[in-house]
Amino acid sequence: MLEIFGPVPSRRLGQSLGINNIPPKHCTYSCVYCQLGKALYMTTRRQSFFSPEYLVASVRQRLSELEAGNETIDYLTVVPDGEPTLDNNLRELVHRLKEFAIPVAIITNASLIWNAEVRESLLEADWVSLKVDAISDLVWRKIDRPHKSLDHHEILAGINQFANRFRRNSQHKLMTETMLVEGINTGIAELRRLAEFIGPLQPDCAYLSIPTRPPAEADVVAADKTSLTQAYDIYTSKIPCVEYLIGYEGNSFSNTGNSRNDILSITAVHPMREDAIQTLLERNGNDHSIVEQLVREQLVEVSCYNGNTYYVRNYSRKH
Ligand code: SF4
Repeated sequence: MLEIFGPVPSRRLGQSLGINNIPPKHCTYSCVYCQLGKALYMTTRRQSFFSPEYLVASVRQRLSELEAGNETIDYLTVVPDGEPTLDNNLRELVHRLKEFAIPVAIITNASLIWNAEVRESLLEADWVSLKVDAISDLVWRKIDRPHKSLDHHEILAGINQFANRFRRNSQHKLMTETMLVEGINTGIAELRRLAEFIGPLQPDCAYLSIPTRPPAEADVVAADKTSLTQAYDIYTSKIPCVEYLIGYEGNSFSNTGNSRNDILSITAVHPMREDAIQTLLERNGNDHSIVEQLVREQLVEVSCYNGNTYYVRNYSRKH
């Protein structure tokens, strides 16, 4: 039952039971930051890998095991080690998963979304995350290294079409995810293009991430704190909800009354401006020494952008 894994705790999805609907490393892209390694089997041909009956029976079995242990699941998540929309049974699979009355999530690179059948499959889900790493063709080719048959304009048009229909159901949750690789898609012009494209999609949240595990190419460098802060600033000028998704899957930010924990959990999600830090400290009756201590421990770093001082989580440290 290797096709079913978890549950794994996820900041975005709570307790998520993973469904691997394609064999490993089948993808339409060969992203420079891919953590699956170089030996990808690149294809755009949709095909049948595992039967929906088999996958649904495996989910049923796993859910009954979890139920016996009083464990609950928040999402059934289709997230293989490759691109889930390569599965031409995806629509039927998602449809059948509804028998469990648990919301279904799909995390896709969106490269096949120009295909109407793929859009229909994704419309069956309750929560969809679309990868949007670049808008200009050159940057897209550099970062996602697409299969030669793919057309970026068609993909962007497909994303627009899908988002318009998906959002008609107010229960649906639409997310975007942008992986930031220093020197490839961290330029101001590209970030503005990304924000201008993603804003009108009206996602529930636009996530910014960086490679946190060894990528396919050794020279890939994760966006540094200045680029992350800049990307956050540009995105939030066009998109209401923007969060970091940087390998941290603990609690989403909260106000517990413990300034140290609050600052750590909030900066894991987005940078905190000096004034926001000050407000939090005053509310909890603390002084600035807590922040200074976090900086000394290298858990939090200081970043200056647009004349403001921000505090950002130090992602190079394990927490
Ligand atoms: S889309 Fe995902 S699986 Fe495919 S190459 Fe990129 S990072 Fe790897």
